[in-house]
Amino acid sequence: MKIGILALQGAFAEHEASLDKLHIPHFEIRQADDLQDDMDGLIIPGGESTVMGKLLKELSLYEPLKAKIEVGLPVFGTCAGLLLLAKDIDGEDALGFRTMNIIARRNAYGRQLGSFFAEEDFKGIGTVGMTFIRAPYIESVGDGVDVLATCDGRIVAARQGKQLVTAFHPELTEEVKIHQYFVDMISEN
Ligand code: GLN
Repeated sequence: MKIGILALQGAFAEHEASLDKLHIPHFEIRQADDLQDDMDGLIIPGGESTVMGKLLKELSLYEPLKAKIEVGLPVFGTCAGLLLLAKDIDGEDALGFRTMNIIARRNAYGRQLGSFFAEEDFKGIGTVGMTFIRAPYIESVGDGVDVLATCDGRIVAARQGKQLVTAFHPELTEEVKIHQYFVDMISEN
């Protein structure tokens, strides 16, 4: 198994460290030449979704990655990564792949007070620590989307087919339960 990590900006190194703990091979995607045909999964990290969305297009990564996601490449988006997969962002133009049937709200907890830690149940895993940093949440989900976690009544994790998103940053906690969940998602057929 080999997982590509989008490394244009943001918290990609932390995802690499999480995959290292699970002994899962990975590589960075910084430009179109880095794409590997045999990649088994893709991680889109947190960071700034508007910047990443712009860079994806400037670097000609947008079309090939979108095509792969559309035909079922397993993808895990955290925070800004969630925003890049959302079909719609409430009140804004979605800049990303728009492959997931969710409506997200950006900087949903306010810009200043938007960072906090919580412990909540994650479907199929149990309690996990959740680090939120100027996080979005999922306002509503459409057909085919399974809600995996909520925090204070708001949807913070979901899955649609082989697409997994979390509004929080699992790569910033010591535990790797959600990365393991993604790896299992890649392995199951
Ligand atoms: N607020 C950021 C955005 O809009 C997301 C923050 C994050 O990824 N930690 O893209």
